[in-house]
Amino acid sequence: MAVSLEHLKYPFSVEARSAAQKLARDVGSLISILNESGNNDLIEEAEERVYAAITQSEVKVPEIDRESAVLVYQAARLIVEKVCLNLNSPGLRRIQAEAESKAVNKHLSSERGRVVRALCTDSLGWSIESTGTSIERSRLPLSLRSFEYRIRFEDFLEVAPSFRSMQWKLINRHLDAGWVPVRKSELHRLMSGKFKNLIVQSEIRVPTLPMRITEAVQRFESEMESRRKEWEPMEYTAESVTSFPPCIAQLHQDSINQKNVSHFGRFAMAAFFLKIGMGKDDMMRIFRAAPDFVRSLASYQIDHIKGKEYEPPKCETMQKHTLCPVYLRTVFDPLCPYVVHPVQFYETRSWENSKGITDHSWYARKRRKHQRF
Ligand code: SF4
Repeated sequence: MAVSLEHLKYPFSVEARSAAQKLARDVGSLISILNESGNNDLIEEAEERVYAAITQSEVKVPEIDRESAVLVYQAARLIVEKVCLNLNSPGLRRIQAEAESKAVNKHLSSERGRVVRALCTDSLGWSIESTGTSIERSRLPLSLRSFEYRIRFEDFLEVAPSFRSMQWKLINRHLDAGWVPVRKSELHRLMSGKFKNLIVQSEIRVPTLPMRITEAVQRFESEMESRRKEWEPMEYTAESVTSFPPCIAQLHQDSINQKNVSHFGRFAMAAFFLKIGMGKDDMMRIFRAAPDFVRSLASYQIDHIKGKEYEPPKCETMQKHTLCPVYLRTVFDPLCPYVVHPVQFYETRSWENSKGITDHSWYARKRRKHQRF
């Protein structure tokens, strides 16, 4: 099978996978091919691909000048998996999944409908249908005219729940006999989201690698170590409480004092605590004091927020929910005007506490004011 541009743009496609498998039927043969002296360029391109992911640059499509170009993605996955194994962390896999998924989304935006439909059905195993030409769609009710495709709801649900926006909730979608109408851009998002999930969920058992690939792996290990702060969860200790922003400190205190905390307040607290690396047992100890505490429900909610990787709400959202005591003018902290997110507050205050800095006059010199109270 001759390698085509589609193979290279869409590594999850059935064609790309079988073209790669034809050259390297398993991890062992992939490593042997990469170790051949004439294939140094494959490792270099794979390294560039991983580096682009780390630096959030564009993941480029390999030159289509040789059949083995289809192995560049496989080599990049191999390098990433070895780094994750050595660092005992899936951080780089997540970074790669995000970058590869973004690249696919971009390619899809200028792709022919025939190719998009084939990728959905043959490679992702989804059932999708075109809703017709724009002239045909003009006969549909106004609310349905902008949807170029429909997808089976079970395929929609494979990916949509991992998106946060309300437009992805099935309850907010039109549903007709099990089909969900989607716009072209939404279908692309679902496809690239599925690719991202495939990478995040895959784990390759990587054996010992030859020196040439090990060197590449080591470069990424030290790159990841130097960027550890960006990808590794923060560490929670007993002192962390002293760095809580006023909003979280208030919610934390209310919980301990057995006061009723709103549903959103609990969500904000749980998402914040998870973000700063607090363990589930510590969280359960805090939530246990609530008058309506139900262990199984609290445990489920924490797992759900963690599983979906929900981000803690930003300051603006906390203010809308009347959970920002600085905005309500009941408390003041000089750092709050200079942040837009409670986690940003926490990171700065933790750093100050670790250095013993109590003079906060540097905010005005070094930081831009974002909020006025
Ligand atoms: S300004 Fe932001 S960090 Fe400060 S208390 Fe309000 S919500 Fe929390």
